[in-house]
Amino acid sequence: MSDASAASFDFDLIVIGAGYGGFDAAKHAADHGLRTAIVESRDMGGTCVNRGCVPSKALLAASGRVRELADAEHLRGFGIHAAPVRFERQKIADHANQLVATIRTNLTKTLERAGATILRGKGRLEGSQRVAVREASGIERVYSARDVIIATGSDPFVPPGIETDGRTVFTSDEAISLEWLPRWIAIIGSGYIGLEFADVYTALGCEVTMIEALDRVMPTFDPDIAKIAARKLIDGRDIDARAGVLAKTVTPGSPVRIELVEMASREPVETLEVDAVLVATGRVPVSKELNLESVGVTTNRGFIPVDEAMRVLVDGNPVAHLWAVGDVTGKMMLAHTAAAQGGVAVDNILGHQRLIDYRSIPAATFTHPEISSVGLSEADAKELAAADGFELGLVRSYFKANSKALAELESDGLMKLLFNRSSGEVLGAHIYGLHAADLIQEIANAVARRQSVRELANEVHTHPTLSEVVEVAYKQAAAALV
Ligand SMILES: Cc1cc2nc3c(=O)[nH]c(=O)nc-3n(C[C@H](O)[C@H](O)[C@H](O)COP(=O)(O)OP(=O)(O)OC[C@H]3O[C@@H](n4cnc5c(N)ncnc54)[C@H](O)[C@@H]3O)c2cc1C
Repeated sequence: MSDASAASFDFDLIVIGAGYGGFDAAKHAADHGLRTAIVESRDMGGTCVNRGCVPSKALLAASGRVRELADAEHLRGFGIHAAPVRFERQKIADHANQLVATIRTNLTKTLERAGATILRGKGRLEGSQRVAVREASGIERVYSARDVIIATGSDPFVPPGIETDGRTVFTSDEAISLEWLPRWIAIIGSGYIGLEFADVYTALGCEVTMIEALDRVMPTFDPDIAKIAARKLIDGRDIDARAGVLAKTVTPGSPVRIELVEMASREPVETLEVDAVLVATGRVPVSKELNLESVGVTTNRGFIPVDEAMRVLVDGNPVAHLWAVGDVTGKMMLAHTAAAQGGVAVDNILGHQRLIDYRSIPAATFTHPEISSVGLSEADAKELAAADGFELGLVRSYFKANSKALAELESDGLMKLLFNRSSGEVLGAHIYGLHAADLIQEIANAVARRQSVRELANEVHTHPTLSEVVEVAYKQAAAALV
């Protein structure tokens, strides 16, 4: 790129979508001197800040405390006798709303301070290196940019046959407002969003029926971790979980009617009448109205194909000056993945070649206790071991052997570590237990560096901390090397 050609564009970079992916890309670009604009049609901060990570974690923090204070048996173990716990639903909702507003304001100010131009309106491509922005007033302007990053994210997926009204049948978009507490709520889907909301609702006294179409609950989790986690997170709570059944139709109202059929045979099972339904059946990319045809891009069920430098692909070949990051690419749909992809895209735009490393990106579910993972699943690790001809190592480290977990009377937990028995390289980890979401970071860092348990086993961990669960796993793995 010559300076003369750069100056002929309105911007060096236009980012479409100000979610976590777009935000990180725009900030990084502006910080590095690129003339950057970011287009947003709804709320600055996107799903994570307004309808996802931020409000859901605020609800989990408050409801988690309610659960703790209401757990008389747990408290008795410490010799504590607390009065019956009371809570105000509206104040819990207010806590989430206030946090959203604060983070949204901070994020917007950060972008402005970095020098990015915020364009309010709906963006779409107008051929190569051109973006049209339609403002709410209907006015449309077309801007040129040397590079364009698409970061339009995702929306909740509502399967056919399910009708939502936003009040009795709703998705996480509405659930995060906690407008009311249904006495009996059915949650369709037992992925991380369904599990987190089940954690919130049961802590606040609601009865939950969890409906999972696949043949086991928590199908996206490591099977051993899911088994032990389900004992506490599902069986130990006011949750009736049903796997292998499909909610064929859901009709809003009072009561909400759910027609259940067996997944395999589609034979009717029963019709439930509940107070509310939360549909947590995954998310779909937002890409329909981007006019991707104008640059010849074909999506994969709406997801934009990208390479590991985040360049948009057509028939496997990169399109010049067009990038996509975040949920719209369909790769590990998490806020920190979107942000990491944004950073990678901008580094490549700046001329520093960098590729994303999905294997080292951790994931967490913020239930009480938490679940986390990084790297390969056991099934994928087995496949890799067979293909590359090495022996797969697997060790388990238990929270019940950890002094800190015992002191907290929270010794329910397991960490599974997968590694190459010859080289010692850490391939993945799966954790269920107190603060699993924090514990996983240490292993994610090791995976990022492709480190061996041989060196990791010698790293000193603070005593007594939960991190010793990881230390024990590393030591066991080092002892199992061949
Ligand atoms: C309930 C819930 C809890 C979650 N919890 C976590 C968590 O704990 N940790 C975690 O890592 N992830 C979590 N996630 C996932 C996380 O929210 C997403 O992975 C993340 O928001 C993706 O970021 P993004 O930038 O790709 O897209 P989004 O955040 O979806 O942002 C896209 C933005 O683009 C805008 N946009 C779309 N089209 C246009 C257009 N044509 N013109 C202009 N603007 C447009 C949208 O309005 C939106 O603001 C959660 C999600 C949900 C729903």
